[in-house]
Amino acid sequence: MIKAIKIRLKPTNEQEVLMFKSAGCARFAYNWGLSKWEEMNKNGFKPSKVKIRAEFNNTIKKDREFVWLKEVSAQVTQHAFEDLNDAYNNFFKGLSKHPKFKTKKRSRQCFYVRYDAIKFKDGKVNLEKIGKVKYKTNYDTPNLPKYINPKCYFDGKYWYLTLGFEHNENQVELNKDLSVGIDLGVSNLAIVNCLDKPIKNINKSIKIRKVKKKLKRLQRQVSRKYEANKKGKEFVKTKNIIKLEKQIKLIHRKLNNIRLNHIHQATNKIVKLKPYRVVMEDLNISGMMKNKHLSESIQEQKFYEFIRQMKYKCEFNGMEFVAADRLYPSSKICSCCGSKKEDLKLKDRVYVCDKCGLEIDRDKNASINLGAYKIA
Ligand SMILES: [Zn+2]
Repeated sequence: MIKAIKIRLKPTNEQEVLMFKSAGCARFAYNWGLSKWEEMNKNGFKPSKVKIRAEFNNTIKKDREFVWLKEVSAQVTQHAFEDLNDAYNNFFKGLSKHPKFKTKKRSRQCFYVRYDAIKFKDGKVNLEKIGKVKYKTNYDTPNLPKYINPKCYFDGKYWYLTLGFEHNENQVELNKDLSVGIDLGVSNLAIVNCLDKPIKNINKSIKIRKVKKKLKRLQRQVSRKYEANKKGKEFVKTKNIIKLEKQIKLIHRKLNNIRLNHIHQATNKIVKLKPYRVVMEDLNISGMMKNKHLSESIQEQKFYEFIRQMKYKCEFNGMEFVAADRLYPSSKICSCCGSKKEDLKLKDRVYVCDKCGLEIDRDKNASINLGAYKIA
């Protein structure tokens, strides 16, 4: 089993400069590789990460103009080509769009770290060419000969180190009779068949509403400032605007963190029940996103993230993750007698069975049906 951990780093100013430099070099190598890839393609050569890496090492790295590349670990640029290769592979498989050039604004600032140089000691972690960086974490940080995909990234405020490692903890004993069904929804985040209370939609909480209010206020301020400082038809960024935009960025980060944290708590709660499997609807999220009324709420609730976390936590704990067939009518079936109600409307929040008289919350009914889902 592979365990992945994320560690908050507390670099000194000098270390932080080096980290931003590393991220810059990673971006430079990625973009250089991308244009090289396209050029080779155009000229009828079959591009590959090996060829691109070799050319990079033989030309750019030896060029005195690019001497600054030597300030950072060699892993930084080498791994950028791995990323590029993955991006093309995903594109060829139809999983993602054509690779794009990375910009400082659009792309996450991140870079790979040499795995065999990592050492945890006295509250500091050794990173090649950066040095011993202070860190803060609640995880155990074992010193191992090998880490998987160690990477540093900047989230707009702090730097983090993420890494994975092989881990052979005793497998948790699972409850062989418990199959958890989860119904994701708009008014509540999730209804779980075996939990009494729904998992709330955090976006309706006072905490988030307050933050969002502040965000709206700042956004209004910025657009007013842009209007006021307009020169002819052109918008001008003043110092004040830059300051406000920075604040807005941090608020977005905060919102994201609150939502992420909520999902982690919810999925952890489900894992703690130790079910042998978890069943969820195979949601057509991109289809749902086309619905204007739903799309904002789905985006805010991070359905994708919920499913992603549920999947990997299931895998990590040896539980089965089942995506119920899209055609499975989890809302229309009576969870008591099994009869099907064809005329159930979306506005019917309570399910009333004509056959056995069951009266139950619509989403609860769906979650029970998902829990009882039989794989065809
Ligand atoms: Zn019934």
